Amino acid sequence: MNKRVVAVRRLDENHLAQLRQLFHVDCFDSLGPDNEQAYIQAMRRAHGLIGGKLTINRQLLDESPHLKVISTISVGYDNLPLDELTQRGILLCNTPDVLTETTADTGFALIMATARRVVELAELVKQGNWLGHIDKPLFGLDVHGKVLGIIGMGRIGAAVARRGALGFGMRVRYSNSSPKPALETELGAQRCDMDELLAQSDFVCISVPLTTETHQLIGAEAFRKMKSSAILINISRGKVVDEAALIDALNEGQIGGAGLDVFEEEPVSRDSPLLQMTNVVALPHIGSATHETRAAMAQLAVDNLILALQGEWPKSAVNEQVLAAKH
Ligand code: NAP
Repeated sequence: MNKRVVAVRRLDENHLAQLRQLFHVDCFDSLGPDNEQAYIQAMRRAHGLIGGKLTINRQLLDESPHLKVISTISVGYDNLPLDELTQRGILLCNTPDVLTETTADTGFALIMATARRVVELAELVKQGNWLGHIDKPLFGLDVHGKVLGIIGMGRIGAAVARRGALGFGMRVRYSNSSPKPALETELGAQRCDMDELLAQSDFVCISVPLTTETHQLIGAEAFRKMKSSAILINISRGKVVDEAALIDALNEGQIGGAGLDVFEEEPVSRDSPLLQMTNVVALPHIGSATHETRAAMAQLAVDNLILALQGEWPKSAVNEQVLAAKH
């Protein structure tokens, strides 16, 4: 038991016990100014780091000479310096697949909630304001039969598209760096360029990873190209959208509404104009937040860490070249 692991947030006792059987584990339920020194101290001796919402910079890496594996409890890793890790021979593992369907459910919940004004009208009932017939000013929009545009037809994008095409008879358009012929056959999805997708879609669903290329991919120009009734759904990362431009587009009626699980800054400021808009449904980054899926993500992250620290191939690694160099 000579290897040491630092565990940050999101691990329950069952998962910690699995790690403790093999390693010395330093646990941090949260990170902040109060325990920063203790965290650095633990990282100085750590071989592995596991947790959610990890942040690690060059300085901390310099302080972590033994670090060999980072196991993030997420599929996205935009918060971590991948190139720097690879250069230093540090393996990065993530948790793809196990969260795909749940995150797609969240995306579809946002489609339904925005189109049918679920949150706004449920609130009206709860506040005792259901006083008579609901008439045109409170009608919503159909979802079935509409055009669903997917930006980023990866695992999650495809799972949203499947729900739309097979469950709701939607016509799917997608924009993706590579073609997805199998999905075109399965779902009748059509690949198109971004301008066409924006112009044709009733729902534009963002499911690309946040990278330097996708940072503020959707901004003022994109909103001008969208239908005035179109609804933007963001289940990827807040910074893929220029939030100030989104606020302008909603204020000016350039688009019809937005369903947002993610924001430029999280938690979103309580003063954000987005929170005052009845045509915006805002969620607190809960894409994968179900009991079952968070447990599966934690288990996969634990498995990855154990395998990697024992010199075996983990179940999912981002920078496999680090592993290949060692085998
Ligand atoms: P994935 O399977 O890697 O899918 C990403 C897709 O985006 C891939 O098809 C990729 O194309 C495409 N893509 C990448 N850059 C692009 C670009 N510049 N233009 C067009 N397409 C591009 O990942 P995933 O598992 O679906 O997850 C996607 C993202 O969702 C994650 O990175 C994460 O940020 C976010 N997420 C959010 C939550 C939440 O709680 N809201 C939960 C889980 C994940 P190729 O196939 O050609 O590479």
